[in-house]
Amino acid sequence: MQHNPYAPPQARVSVRALDDGSQVWREGELAVMTPSGELPPRCVKCNADAVQPIKERTVYWHTPWLYVLILISILVYLIVALIARKSARIGPGLCEEHRRLRNNVILGSLLGAFAGIGLVIAAIGNSSGALGLLGGLVLLAAVIVGMVKGRIVYAVRIDANRISLKGCGEAFLASLPRRR
Ligand SMILES: [Zn+2]
Repeated sequence: MQHNPYAPPQARVSVRALDDGSQVWREGELAVMTPSGELPPRCVKCNADAVQPIKERTVYWHTPWLYVLILISILVYLIVALIARKSARIGPGLCEEHRRLRNNVILGSLLGAFAGIGLVIAAIGNSSGALGLLGGLVLLAAVIVGMVKGRIVYAVRIDANRISLKGCGEAFLASLPRRR
């Protein structure tokens, strides 16, 4: 058979890229996985054995361009972000110690939120604007700390082929195969 130099190249590259066995790998500070991949059953912070059973969690991501909408209206942004965001189910493991640390952070932020609400109520009773402002700030800070520090890992990108996660510890990342 004659070789045809004008024939289109065969699609070997994409098959090889997806088919080398590893469904979770490291890219710099990111842990990257395919949608069908599973994180290893180890603590994503320190790489110790994870407490079983590992809870499945949903992570969300949307293109950062949507933040421009906040300039127009927070409400418009929230609605579009809810529609446009992508989600993925992942099972990030935590060891006993890191699970306890996280529980403490969540407990601390809950207590902070209650303290903030208490201050707001006291402010209403005393008609004190300054106290009300302080209560509001404490409440807001507690919610933000709980949301940011309470998450185990978070998605920095989700598309049809891969989920990129940030927040893993170096020991866990070092245990993953490296790509690029
Ligand atoms: Zn750990």
